[in-house]
Order: sequence, then structure tokens, then C-alpha cells
Amino acid sequence: MEKTRYIFVTGGVASSLGKGIISASLAKLLQARGYKVTIQKLDPYINVDPGTLNPYEHGECYVTVDGAETDLDLGHYERFTNQPTTQANNVTTGRIYSTVIEKERRGDYLGETVQIIPHITDEIKSRIKILGTENNFDFVITEIGGTVGDIESLPYVEAVRQLKWEMGKHALVIHLTLVPYLAAAGELKTKPTQHSVKQLLQLGVQPDILVCRTEHHINNGIRKKIAQFCNVEASSVIESIDTDTIYNVPILMQEEGLDTEVLKKLQINDNRKTVLTKWETFLKLVKNPSYEITIGLVGKYVELKDSYKSILESFIHAGAENNCKVNIKMISSEKINEENAESYLSNLSGVLVAPGFGNRGIEGKIDTIKYIRENRIPFLGICLGMQCAVIEYGRNVLGLEGAHSSEMNSRTKYPVIDLMEEQKNIDNLGGTMRLGAYDCEITEGSNSYKAYKKSSIKERHRHRYEFNDKFRDQYINSGMKVTGVNPQTNLVEIVEIEDHPWFTAVQFHPEYSSTVANPHPLFVGFVKAALNNK
Ligand code: GLN
Repeated sequence: MEKTRYIFVTGGVASSLGKGIISASLAKLLQARGYKVTIQKLDPYINVDPGTLNPYEHGECYVTVDGAETDLDLGHYERFTNQPTTQANNVTTGRIYSTVIEKERRGDYLGETVQIIPHITDEIKSRIKILGTENNFDFVITEIGGTVGDIESLPYVEAVRQLKWEMGKHALVIHLTLVPYLAAAGELKTKPTQHSVKQLLQLGVQPDILVCRTEHHINNGIRKKIAQFCNVEASSVIESIDTDTIYNVPILMQEEGLDTEVLKKLQINDNRKTVLTKWETFLKLVKNPSYEITIGLVGKYVELKDSYKSILESFIHAGAENNCKVNIKMISSEKINEENAESYLSNLSGVLVAPGFGNRGIEGKIDTIKYIRENRIPFLGICLGMQCAVIEYGRNVLGLEGAHSSEMNSRTKYPVIDLMEEQKNIDNLGGTMRLGAYDCEITEGSNSYKAYKKSSIKERHRHRYEFNDKFRDQYINSGMKVTGVNPQTNLVEIVEIEDHPWFTAVQFHPEYSSTVANPHPLFVGFVKAALNNK
């Protein structure tokens, strides 16, 4: 298309209705028609990025190829569309304000009083528009975080109001609301949706399409009622019913005609039929797999599943690829010790030790790895999980008593994991880790090589510590092989144990790049090994 169209997705009534999944599903449907689509998330909090947030706050921190630490919704965008996102796809209030304040100090606004309108809203608008024009996207879908009516999101809704006015038929607003079911009355209730749309109207925004999250089907009567009260056509009231897997949502949205309604409203003539064959094949495998296994996920944020979102999704992709349902048993590393490890781990087909920061639960991760190494259970270690595998091997095989990462014990005699050279003079914690995609060369014949089926790869990172090169020879000579190395810096990226069914630990984060279209090879290889071990 010669001109980019902008679609805004707002949310009302309650948070967690799944704006990210609706945005990603719409993107998928438009993409399936051959359009070039990207999705952007605007987050109303004041952190410049979520890198400094505890996972309990907003779930996992996702990392893009260009090294941005972002909201986890970007993970959904990539998993659905199979398109990489970048820093420009996630903007926070903190980033907007710091840019505006920087400009003010530089003198860019000399003479003007710098205000929320127009300076903050202009900065928001330019971040939205630039994404479309610089990359020639046909559609930019911009998801506004939070719920309409929040004080924090007011400047964003105002920016949407202005853009809608300026862009006319090239912009459209989708509002996601909740239609709750009152069991006592046996009825679906539309009032919260009506109120939420009124709130948007008070801010000057008339939504074009309403997506209504619901537990029960919305009948025609309810559709008409919502349409009438909210100034939209009945065909623009789209039902989004609860479903057992998020990967169903594109299909449900297609059946409800979300994409055709969007095209109609944007006055784009397109009668092509959407093709989702590959997606449907994947869904079939997710829903009716031939095999089933249970893999343990040992980490310290187990109470909140969102903390390991990308890992859990990667298992769904890799499971489908292996025609296998992968049940995940979340195990708190704080609970595991040498004595009880067997009771937690012996029945599992495989174990993944998760990424993380800080001392809490670290010994449980190390004891977990000792057990699965000795008992030959397939293992995947990611980032801190890889570092723990190195510590465990150092202590229990090389006899380096008290070996540790200097992150946990700065005075250990054997810092087998140590701060990277370039990290030593860094004081600021925000955005200063080794972030984004780096090259890695894999040794032929290794588990990793068999999984990737090639030797040159690029994977995303998020860490400050690394395998300490001083100990490399000692490890290699004692059976822990270095099978992946960064060709520019010689940093150790992958370690494996040869005499084991599948023991692979990686310094990078494979989970960030697993998608429906391209399940991650290491997860596929790991699930396969676990299936063989069943
Ligand atoms: N805390 C470790 C480091 O900074 C591991 C980080 C991670 O697991 N993402 O190196």
C-alpha cells in the first residue's frame, strides 16, 4: 500500500484482557493476506524500560535482536508474526519524558513552555508515525498499555485522538472490553462496556471496533445493544471468547471477521481469502498430540507464570514440532537441596534451569543440576542456568571447593563465572548488560550442532557475567565441552557434557527467538531428548 495505516488498540473495564494477543492475532491475519505489519506497545510507566523491573511486576523482560529490554507483549508479537521487533516497538513514558527533557536542555524548544500537550503528545505521535514511515509498513498496530481512564495513560489517549483527527480514514481505534457473566442473574452484562466507551468518548475518541472479551457467546441481541449504546455498527462488535490456547485467537478473530471489519473501516478493498494453513497445522498438533511428557522448570519466580513466558511458549512450539504435549512442572529452586532433589526430579523427562539474578535459590539450582547430571536426565540450562551448570561441575567434578559466580560470592577462591571485562566500570544498572544478538560458532557433532544443523548462529543475550576463561582448559579436559564460542570475543556461549543423554547449557536466551513458524532448534532438540528419556 502506498500509505501506512495506523490501528490503535486500547483497553477498558479491566487489565489483562489480552490486548497483546488481540493485536498479535490481527497482525497475523493481515500478514496472512500479504500485508507488511508491525506492532508497537506504548507503556505508561515511568521506567525508561522494563529491564530494571522485578519479574513479579510485569512478568518477564523480553529482549529484541537490537538489544532493547522490552515488555513481554513484544514476545507475543514475534511469536505470532515471526517478524523481529526493535527498540522502536516499545516506548514507555520514561523514554518519552527523558527525550523531551533532553531536547529542552539542548535548547530545541527555546522560548517555549514545555508542556504535556503539545510536547509530550508530539513525541508520542512521532514515535508512532516514524515506525510506519521509516520501514514502509502497510499497517502499524499500536497497543496502548494500561486501561482507559488511568491517569498515566491520558497523554497516550490524547495522542490517539489527535492522530485519528489528522489521519482520517488512515487510522482506526479498536477498544477491547469485558462483557462479564453474572452467574446469579444468568446473564452477560454490557454496562461496563458502555461505561468504558463513554470514558473514551469523554477523552474525544470514538472507537471504531469493539472487541468484547467474554466467557459465554454474545448473541445478536447483546451485539445490537452494545452497538446502539456505543455508536458502532453491530458488525463491529467482535466477540473474543475465552479459549484454551492463545494460538486459537487468530482463528477465532478470523471467524468473527475482525480483519475484514478493519479493512472495511479503513476503506481498503480486499476480497482475498486469508490463508492460515501452517498455523492450523500447528494448532492441530497443539490440540491433539500423540505423546505427552513432563519437564521441570526450576527457577525462583515460579508463583507467576508470566516470569517465564517465553520459555513456556517455546515449549509449546517445540512440543508441536515433536507431536508431543509438554507439561511444565514449575519447581521453586529455594525448596530443592541435595537430600530431597530425587523426590522433586526423578519422575521428570527433562529439566530446564531458568535464567535469573542474585543469590536467592541459587544452591537449589546447583543441587538440581548435580542430580540430573548424575542421573542422566536431559537438561537445558539458560543463562544463569548455564552458569549454575558450570559452578556445579567445578565443585563436584573438578573439585574446586566453593567454586561460584562472583555475582553471588565476590570472594570465592574459584570464580568460574566472573564479571565480563567490559562490565567492570559500569555503575548504572539500566540498559547496561550485554544485550541483544551476538554471533556464536558451534562445534560440529555437538548436541547444539545436531539441533541447529549449522555452525554459525546468532542469539540474544542479557547478562553481565560469563564463563571465566582461566578455567576453560580444566573443564574441557574433565569432560565439560565448550561447544559454542563467540567468534569475535572468544566468550563461551555453550557448554555440553558428552557422556550424558542431553546436557546442553547456553549463556544466551534461545526462548526469545522461538516462534510458531520457527520453533527454536534447542527447545526442539531438548524436547526430543526428553521424549526419548520418557
Ligand atoms: N545474573 C546472571 C548474569 O547477569 C545471569 C543473567 C540471566 O540469567 N539472564 O550474568
